[in-house]
Amino acid sequence: MRAFDYQVPADALAAMRAVAGNDSAVFLAGGTNLVDHLKLGLTHPDLVVDITGVTSDEVVERDGGLWIGAAVRNSDLAADPRVCERYPMLSEALLSGASGQLRNMATAGGNPLQRTRCGYFQDNTTPCNKRRPGSGCAAVGGHARYQGILGTSEHCVATHPSDMAVALSALDAVVHVLGPDGERTIPFTELHRLPGDEPSRDTVLHHGDLITAIELPDTPIARRSRYRKVRDRASYAFALVSVAAAVDVTDGVVRDVRIALGGVAHKPWRAYLAEEALRGQAAIEDNFREAAAAELVDARAVDGMDGGNAFKIPLVTRTVVSVLRGLTQENQ
Ligand SMILES: Cc1cc2nc3c(=O)[nH]c(=O)nc-3n(C[C@H](O)[C@H](O)[C@H](O)COP(=O)(O)OP(=O)(O)OC[C@H]3O[C@@H](n4cnc5c(N)ncnc54)[C@H](O)[C@@H]3O)c2cc1C
Ligand code: SF4
Repeated sequence: MRAFDYQVPADALAAMRAVAGNDSAVFLAGGTNLVDHLKLGLTHPDLVVDITGVTSDEVVERDGGLWIGAAVRNSDLAADPRVCERYPMLSEALLSGASGQLRNMATAGGNPLQRTRCGYFQDNTTPCNKRRPGSGCAAVGGHARYQGILGTSEHCVATHPSDMAVALSALDAVVHVLGPDGERTIPFTELHRLPGDEPSRDTVLHHGDLITAIELPDTPIARRSRYRKVRDRASYAFALVSVAAAVDVTDGVVRDVRIALGGVAHKPWRAYLAEEALRGQAAIEDNFREAAAAELVDARAVDGMDGGNAFKIPLVTRTVVSVLRGLTQENQ
């Protein structure tokens, strides 16, 4: 690991300026992703700016919703009674991630910005367009089990690993950012990018942009919501496929629905096509299956030496159907 300077700024503005003014500076929050990357030699900053004390570590009521300071720890957020009651999918998503110790360190601002767990990205000796633009993509034809099926490109087929981010996508959360040009907001569904021909960029953030808070709008439908994560082990494993969903059914008809998918794309995947297909339809299994099929119409599997990831396509359908069936049975 290369030596670097370490700074503890007085406030958010000083933190933002310290990073924005130095191309080789990075923010350090809980450090559960960044410190691994320093050790693996994936990033080589000259300056590490500790932001754990410069943004709020509280969850407060605002406009009927909740405003989550970027420094709120994942374990505190998952246990907040208002989150459990009004946004259970978010609490469930957080609790399905990592381990108790990691959740005690990980922050609301850092979690959505964690980088892909693609094994080749984390291995400095292999070609990877995300780590070294133009070097190629070792995942295609390699270990493809965890790679994406939606929105991939010939340059990168990686998935975004955050569970929390899938729930935030379904909840239409809003990200508050402080950058060199002042404060701005970004709809959560627009924070992450698809890889296209520039997979090295995970998000639309610019260097120096500091996430200060994440806002959850008042979302009554989310009171009855679920997060289901399908993985190789019961704990301490990233999602093969995950589904965050909420549904409002009246007289057997879907009045409104929210669905987001994890483990399938370079970003948390909001399933707008499935939602559209379901609104106004009978809340029955055949329609849930058709809605999933509508979302997966452009899904493409990646071939790999491990058998590839074609299994994810039917797995998404089965998981969507199962989560919606559970929610609608509770609804009746
Ligand atoms: C063994 C292991 C298993 C895991 N399993 C899971 C899992 O199953 N599901 C899951 O979702 N996650 C999992 N994780 C990932 C973990 O949740 C993330 O590492 C964590 O949430 C990152 O948050 P952090 O505060 O530690 O971020 P850091 O590591 O401090 O930062 C991550 C990145 O975000 C940037 N950053 C942080 N905060 C801000 C901010 N406020 N504004 C702008 N930039 C910022 C940093 O510069 C860095 O680039 C696992 C991690 C490990 C090590
Ligand atoms: S899938 Fe993306 S992250 Fe993984 S090796 Fe290919 S370019 Fe790198």
